[in-house]
Amino acid sequence: MLALEDADEVADLYREAYRVKLEHIGAKVSVRGLIEAGNVCAKDCFYCGIRKSNAKVRRYQLSEDDIVCLAEQSKSFGYASVVIQSGEIESEAHTMSVERVLKRLAALDLGVTLSLGEQEPDVYKRWRDAGAARYLLRIETANEELYRKLHPANHSWRRRLECLRTLRKLDYQVGTGVMCALPGETVKDLADSIRFFRDEDVDMIGMGPYIPHPDAPLKGVEPMTKAARLAWGLKMIAATRLTLPQVNIAAATALQALADDGREQGILAGANVIMPNVTDVEYRANYQLYAGKPCLNENAGQCRSCLDRRLEAIGEKILYGERGDSLRYFERCKNAQR
Ligand code: SAM
Ligand code: SF4
Repeated sequence: MLALEDADEVADLYREAYRVKLEHIGAKVSVRGLIEAGNVCAKDCFYCGIRKSNAKVRRYQLSEDDIVCLAEQSKSFGYASVVIQSGEIESEAHTMSVERVLKRLAALDLGVTLSLGEQEPDVYKRWRDAGAARYLLRIETANEELYRKLHPANHSWRRRLECLRTLRKLDYQVGTGVMCALPGETVKDLADSIRFFRDEDVDMIGMGPYIPHPDAPLKGVEPMTKAARLAWGLKMIAATRLTLPQVNIAAATALQALADDGREQGILAGANVIMPNVTDVEYRANYQLYAGKPCLNENAGQCRSCLDRRLEAIGEKILYGERGDSLRYFERCKNAQR
């Protein structure tokens, strides 16, 4: 499926994946308010715009009050789930701060996903106990060798894998994912990523095309048109939906960076989750992982109305007021009880 190039065959692939999405999930899309909580990061991934060594980035960290306030705003928009994402920080002060935020969010009765990178098992446990229900940690690529080429020597694919397995043991709904069209990546690598999702039996998948950032070391390697990058992202969504009909698959913002209607194309290729940004405009420009991040000047309210219009236009309904948990998660819990 991933190797298809003929336009009619690719269109058939998207159609079939969308049919499977309709059969298992319906013409419905779950939403999560995305809070970009901070861009301070201890890591130096070669592809990322907010990597530690990028001195051009103005660093910020939202206060605990700011994060709670954005979560309240998300709830008022009807987003029953939020994702708190940031660069990776491993420190007791950070762990405690996230813990305090989670305890305050408990009163809002939201589905909370964290995406705060690799942490020690006891940290994941403390955050789970404080109320986080889901965790998103992309493996980036299932090919350990390729991972090594895209990161400094002290970054470890094995540790990332261990983190995912720890999260599972702690009963999080576990999300992972990859970037598509990375330099040096083959069709087999991408197919292996889908095998990885299946073998690790994950609940949620966030995938998007890799997009170069001008101040990241990987910037100039292997130029590719926007259309080609988008096609890789869409084929991966479609092939993943056909392989794993019950998982939640996000139409990543990176799709929208490549085409104005990229997220809608993602839904029509089988994705069922969208994460509208609720971060204040003041901070959005400082959280640029890649060039061409969309909606830099739109506030959360504008993003919500835009999303309504766009999804209505393709006949999909937004599940306001619903957490949108992964069907795969409930299925696994049922099987465990048998
Ligand atoms: N720091 C945490 C981590 O790495 O897991 C969470 C935030 S990180 C910015 C979220 C994701 O952004 C990464 O997992 C990576 O897949 C994606 N990302 C980073 N740079 C990118 C780029 N140039 N193009 C597309 N996606 C990118
Ligand atoms: Fe940091 Fe995540 Fe970017 Fe890597 S991808 S540099 S961990 S923010």
